[in-house]
Amino acid sequence: MSQPQTVTVLGAGVVGMATALTLADRGHRVTVIDAAEGPGLGTSFANGAQLSYAYTDALASPATLAQMPRLVLGAEPAFRLRLSLDPEFLRWGLAFVRNSSAGRFRRNTLAGLALAFRSREALRRLVSDHDLEFAHSCPGKIHLYRSAKSFASAQKTAALKAAQGVRQQLLDPDQVVAMEPMLSAIRNDIVGALYTADEEVGDPYRFCTSARIALTATGRGTGLFGVTVDRIEADEQRPAVITAGGQRIVADRVVLCAGSQSAALARSLGISLPILPMKGYSITTPPGPAAPTISVTDVANRVVFARLGNRMRIAGLADLGARDTNIDPKRHRALVRSARAALPQAAQYDSIESSWAGLRPMTPDSLPITRTIAHRVIANTGHGALGWTYAAGSAERVADIIEGRD
Ligand SMILES: Cc1cc2nc3c(=O)[nH]c(=O)nc-3n(C[C@H](O)[C@H](O)[C@H](O)COP(=O)(O)OP(=O)(O)OC[C@H]3O[C@@H](n4cnc5c(N)ncnc54)[C@H](O)[C@@H]3O)c2cc1C
Repeated sequence: MSQPQTVTVLGAGVVGMATALTLADRGHRVTVIDAAEGPGLGTSFANGAQLSYAYTDALASPATLAQMPRLVLGAEPAFRLRLSLDPEFLRWGLAFVRNSSAGRFRRNTLAGLALAFRSREALRRLVSDHDLEFAHSCPGKIHLYRSAKSFASAQKTAALKAAQGVRQQLLDPDQVVAMEPMLSAIRNDIVGALYTADEEVGDPYRFCTSARIALTATGRGTGLFGVTVDRIEADEQRPAVITAGGQRIVADRVVLCAGSQSAALARSLGISLPILPMKGYSITTPPGPAAPTISVTDVANRVVFARLGNRMRIAGLADLGARDTNIDPKRHRALVRSARAALPQAAQYDSIESSWAGLRPMTPDSLPITRTIAHRVIANTGHGALGWTYAAGSAERVADIIEGRD
């Protein structure tokens, strides 16, 4: 082990908590700081719950680019683009277009896959070393396709991943129903499906709260909650975070894990991070009469279904450029409509227990930024639509950077 260091982790979402616990396990002394009253109350609160190790497809692709005119006109119910003349938005947009070639899509998707593989192993290590309770299970996942064109394109991407060792099975409609009988009512709408047996689910909020307890139990970690960080200073020997109350907290290292707020905090260092929020929604309901046990992604309706213990978590919608977390009643209704259209019997749609909206911190290449951005300041942010999936793996990358093993 390298020399133990003191580390301030700024942000206590899935990324910050996985980072803090990993660093404490490696012998470092960690302080996690978050503006919220507890961990996991930002974008990590009620996301789709999928540990989607095989489905790392980058958002920027020739297909997304071809859809742009429809997105701008608001013609796609699940995906909206809020245009802005803000220079950061324009820079992000240009970088996104550059990443939309077939070659970049392949490269970015495979880089995501490598991180996802590492994450699966890293999360296993955390689970075996600590008493973490977050409804973690391995139900597998079915991606449903309702058009021959989208199924054909999914098969191409599956072939790419198969070459990297990802095991996915192509299913015809009868095989889909044999695998998950709860999908029998929509059998005639299905063209085909991809089944991945080893996809997992877990409740990200409960992960964060149990990671907090586990961190304290290591004797090397603590949390400061209800503390807003105003800026980071890195022009001295050791970096400092300055709180809104004027407190200066100095450590050997600062790790920036502030999700969609990371770009604003990096600006205090004079650094521009290409992160744009993409708002999404979720609902949590009791299971319906035909609730699947296997996680389901309905590609046409852009909605994901996961069983979390005795609840259904349903997530979707992508409003790129939206910056608030208010629940817009129209968008909430749009999610419920898409979910009903996808799997009408999966959930008790008239008994929604909670509705939620959060901001995915998107980068133009759909890959997180895990690197040193200023003297002894490391970014671990921009995990986009897969932050829960990537959290444990990118936490290990940060630990490697701190220990000079990157
Ligand atoms: C609808 C939806 C569905 C999703 N589904 C999935 C899924 O199924 N699987 C998956 O892998 N990913 C999913 N995601 C993505 C995933 O939720 C995010 O990538 C992930 O939560 C990002 O985690 P984070 O820790 O970086 O950010 P956050 O969870 O937002 O944590 C950042 C923390 O930083 C704190 N903070 C920010 N600024 C400051 C400041 N100035 N001072 C102090 N504290 C500050 C915030 O309070 C917050 O707690 C989904 C996202 C959405 C919106």
